[in-house]
Amino acid sequence: MTVDSVTQLQLDNSFAALPADFYTRLEPRPLNAPRLLHANEQAAELIGLSPQALQSEDFLQVCAGQQPLPGGQTLAAVYSGHQFGVWAGQLGDGRAHLLGEVVGPQGNWELQLKGSGMTPYSRMGDGRAVLRSSVREYLASEAMQGLGIPTTRALAVVVSDDPVVRETVETAAIVMRMSPSFVRFGSFEHWSSRRQPEQLQQLTDYVIDKFYPQCRDAGANGVPGPDGDVLRLLTEVTRRTALLMADWQAVGFCHGVMNTDNMSILGLTLDYGPYGFMDTFQLGHVCNHSDTEGRYAWNRQPSVALWNLYRLAGSLHTLVSDVDALRGVLDGYEAIFVQAFHQRMAAKLGLSQWRAEDEPLLDALLKLMHEQRADFTLTFRRLADAVRGQTQGFADLFIDREAARAWYERLAARHAEDDMGAAARADAMDAVNPLYVLRNHLAEQAIRAAKAGDASEIDTLLRLLRDPYTEKAGYDSYAALPPDWAGGLEVSCSS
Ligand code: AMP
Ligand code: MG
Repeated sequence: MTVDSVTQLQLDNSFAALPADFYTRLEPRPLNAPRLLHANEQAAELIGLSPQALQSEDFLQVCAGQQPLPGGQTLAAVYSGHQFGVWAGQLGDGRAHLLGEVVGPQGNWELQLKGSGMTPYSRMGDGRAVLRSSVREYLASEAMQGLGIPTTRALAVVVSDDPVVRETVETAAIVMRMSPSFVRFGSFEHWSSRRQPEQLQQLTDYVIDKFYPQCRDAGANGVPGPDGDVLRLLTEVTRRTALLMADWQAVGFCHGVMNTDNMSILGLTLDYGPYGFMDTFQLGHVCNHSDTEGRYAWNRQPSVALWNLYRLAGSLHTLVSDVDALRGVLDGYEAIFVQAFHQRMAAKLGLSQWRAEDEPLLDALLKLMHEQRADFTLTFRRLADAVRGQTQGFADLFIDREAARAWYERLAARHAEDDMGAAARADAMDAVNPLYVLRNHLAEQAIRAAKAGDASEIDTLLRLLRDPYTEKAGYDSYAALPPDWAGGLEVSCSS
């Protein structure tokens, strides 16, 4: 069941029903003469919006902040957070407006504009977003979805000729995002830091009742009562966060700004900024040019997520006095992450099961990739070709081809102990090792075309990234090593 106009959507506004100090009600500041750059029919389906609806004037006006979402209650939410390890105090939706919560055929989805003008939480910012970062967010959220990694979604990008000043003058844009919720770790830190336990309790109750009802005390095992509910919530958030980190690591994804205000309470990838899918593999790869200390380097992401969970648990300590119980929950993080990571890596290597003895084999590969700057995505993808008997493509990714072949012989020996035919193994590997990922230069090509009014490159990328495991004829360049000019691309916090 779909509807042909945003005016026909059914709305529920559960976040807006929280007390008034959780947000500020205000309308967006519209873009002038907005144009729809791209709309996402697959995301639209989640909320029951037809493809025709996306082409309507109503839809454009809502996306550009010119009209409220009919039935919605527009607001900017307040939160706080730790940025680059330092307490940053109050933050909030500085350039985002939550338009409302759609009751769709596939659950409830909040619709949020990003880049829609100043709010009381804008601090020094202008409330705007540029085409470049909006297209990057739009593409990345769909790429993650295609990889099967939990993420917020993106419904549309609109652009306008309004100038936005960054390092240079850029084109203004708004991206319409979708998520069951945009509540962050920082939303919890906000109330605990302000010593407002009542609001913290209200937020916690809201999140448990709406998203984690299974955490409510059912008189089962464990700590009874409200303390137990909070501990079960932390347990579930810890689990989802650990699994998300395993997912990121397994595809060579770097978030870039893992501040606590960018950590979803639902365990989703949230707030795409200077992210990157690695080309050449470096253990300490830093995708964010502004991250001079390398705090959010690829190999640090899992431990940073735990650090962030500590900040969340510290906030929940306001509600649960038993510190040992909170710490006990976080003590479970590492095992969940490691097990999930090994599971994913085993699949990538074509092993039906991870064994403790596989650790040195994996370490040796990562070390070799690191030393020789092998391409992350293609290294894993071409392992399946090696299983099919063609080792050349794999070896060619390394300067020292003999070392690569020698490592592959070790893997082949391990495969021999594993009861699976070569063809089935190679197919299974192709099903978990993507061929197409959103490399920086691919995003850049789509951005350059979009600036010239051509969205066809976005179409092409979405087609490939939504099904990144299946090779498509005629798209070799999208699966190839990055061209030389890609090495000069820098992404920073500027967006
Ligand atoms: P980020 O790290 O990009 O998620 O942003 C951190 C904080 O800065 C959030 O509270 C954002 O809302 C805010 N912010 C980022 N860019 C802008 C901007 N151009 N205008 C206003 N607020 C912004
Ligand atoms: Mg953010």
